[in-house]
Amino acid sequence: MKYSVLSVVFFLCVFNAFAKKGKEQPKLVVGIVVDQMRWDFLYRYNDRYTDGGFKRLMKEGYNCQQAMINYVPTFTAPGHACAYTGTVPSVHGIAANDWVDIRNEKQVYCTEDKTVLPVGGSYKAGRNSPRNLLTTTVGDELKLATNMRAKVFGIAIKDRGAILPAGHTANGAYWFDDSTGNFISSSFYGEQLPVWLSRFNGKRYADSLMREEWHTLYDAATYTSSITDNNKYEGKLKGEKEPVFPHNTSKEKGKGYGLLRYLPGGNTIIFKAAKACIRAEALGADDITDILCLSLSTPDYVGHMFSPNAMETEDMYLRLDMELASFFNYLDKQVGKGNYTVFLTADHGAAHNSNYLKDLKIPAGNKAEHEALAELNAYVKKETGKDSMVFDLSNYQVYLNENKIDKQKADREDVKGAVIAWFKMQDGIQYVVDMEDMDDVVLPEPLKTLVVNGYHHKRSGCIQVITEPGWYSGYGPTGTTHGTWNPYDTHIPLLFYGAGIKKGETQHKVHMTDIAPTISALLNIQMPNGCIGEVIETALER
Ligand SMILES: [Zn+2]
Repeated sequence: MKYSVLSVVFFLCVFNAFAKKGKEQPKLVVGIVVDQMRWDFLYRYNDRYTDGGFKRLMKEGYNCQQAMINYVPTFTAPGHACAYTGTVPSVHGIAANDWVDIRNEKQVYCTEDKTVLPVGGSYKAGRNSPRNLLTTTVGDELKLATNMRAKVFGIAIKDRGAILPAGHTANGAYWFDDSTGNFISSSFYGEQLPVWLSRFNGKRYADSLMREEWHTLYDAATYTSSITDNNKYEGKLKGEKEPVFPHNTSKEKGKGYGLLRYLPGGNTIIFKAAKACIRAEALGADDITDILCLSLSTPDYVGHMFSPNAMETEDMYLRLDMELASFFNYLDKQVGKGNYTVFLTADHGAAHNSNYLKDLKIPAGNKAEHEALAELNAYVKKETGKDSMVFDLSNYQVYLNENKIDKQKADREDVKGAVIAWFKMQDGIQYVVDMEDMDDVVLPEPLKTLVVNGYHHKRSGCIQVITEPGWYSGYGPTGTTHGTWNPYDTHIPLLFYGAGIKKGETQHKVHMTDIAPTISALLNIQMPNGCIGEVIETALER
């Protein structure tokens, strides 16, 4: 009797060990980046979130309440790269969405690649690859660790939202082509689209989603988390006279599919494509973990257009929450509850509209960087006698015209001195930092670390401008933007859920660079090769 009780105990221990191993090794990891999602959106609209969407992750998963981006500028491409590489622009090289190749005097788009051809779409939208990304991603490391047997895919409306997360060895990355309404790819990944994606495109979801009128889910009077529907801080969708519900874009039919980016259908089509990918590629079907990297670009377009205080933003998040709930139900059925792990984060947050803040008597402002270029060059000429010494102002950085400085034998230090002096005279500027000589700069932490982390010596401008809180570059009187070090841009949601993840939350500060090493630890694989982050140990069930 005693013997058999011991046997049962032994069996249970062994069974438990197996069960635990199975639980710790998900069959599928789904990464979801919600483009421009401020951390506070988890709570601002919480009352009307369903139990199955954001709240499922918050209640049943692990909630890192103080997840911060540890670099500037806080833009889409560096954010997507950081989440999946565990490192910062200084190392992964994705210094911004667009940067300047100063010696060749040209703009570079983060994923542009003239060596590849479009696959399934237009020439304009298709020539992209992760070639400018200098490090591996979690997906790359998983592929290396499994002798390429793991499958890794990236899907987003934005090319950079699909390509940078998926990495160099991905089986595929698919993004939206505004001119056709199809998901496309490039020859970097293969010579043709997979059959399932061609079939998916054949269903013409973009057409039906564009035809859907966007009305509020609930009675407009109940949108008490937002200011009135028609307000002066909102931009207008193409073809519309007022920024009000219901939004109807059917008049723009035949003018391409770019408007889908601004409609809830832009999220719907991503979840539809994700399901088609999971089914057709049998993601999570065997014991070799796969990774699906999803990025929802629509929240960013809606935020830029209408700002965080608009009913459109609120309604879009309520709809997104329902789509998440339905997607998680799909994963439960298709991959099996307990067999998959989800992480959800954002690539950056967003500021409040600066005029809205000013009207509330909160210090704020905005000014377009490009518009200041002529004035700055005139000042530098007055001070140094040299013309056109500044090539470009973008990403809160100053790109000096290095070729002209050489040719005209200008004193580079004098030029930099004049640039810094001019910026210090402008409204809304808090610090101006010479990134090549940081010893003399009085700059408090964590700003110093953030600018160093964001500075790539070949791709960033050599002078970094830091605006006062509430100030940002560009976007005129309506909508909003992001890019600064301030908490509204750098405080992001970070939720882990599912296989191998504990239930709970932490108020300890963690960084965006901690996501990739945490997923790597979960999968028992090497962290990406430029990783500087740390494992969020308390999130893991071990
Ligand atoms: Zn973004």
